[in-house]
Amino acid sequence: MANKIPRVSVREQDAKVRATNFEEVCYGYNVEEAQTEASRCLNCKKPRCVEACPVGINIPAFIHEVINGDFKKASSIIAEDSSLPSICGRVCPQETQCEGSCILGIKGESVAIGKLERFVGDWSLENNAKSVEVAPKNGHKVAVIGSGPSGLACASDLAKWGRCDCF
Ligand code: SF4
Repeated sequence: MANKIPRVSVREQDAKVRATNFEEVCYGYNVEEAQTEASRCLNCKKPRCVEACPVGINIPAFIHEVINGDFKKASSIIAEDSSLPSICGRVCPQETQCEGSCILGIKGESVAIGKLERFVGDWSLENNAKSVEVAPKNGHKVAVIGSGPSGLACASDLAKWGRCDCF
């Protein structure tokens, strides 16, 4: 399976510039880049990318909404399975997970799923988009020990369910 649209490269700071600062090297996609990259997805009926995602994000569905320009809906779709799209889009080993299983990668280049996830996560933060319904607080407090991915995800889910002022 091949795709005539080449994978959209992500813009990065020039090496000489990034040697002078502590800013993020990768700029991420802008809207046009994200929509072009999203348009490469074949919207597979049996999406191998989803099977390879540890949390089972509905990848073709959120990518479809990126094509539509409905970034809030894309964000809501991701939020069904992940609270950390800006982080996961940056640090997940996509090359061995979703992108490593993308059907386009068999004969060409996989869809840049991680960069698209990052784009949606960042858009959501920048636009203060509420991706999930949050239940009213029920007065109970929960202490989550540790601030790794599990602890953050647990705190996020508990907060969504109104069960904590996490600290
Ligand atoms: S496997 Fe690749 S082409 Fe197929 S739905 Fe997933 S991202 Fe799109």
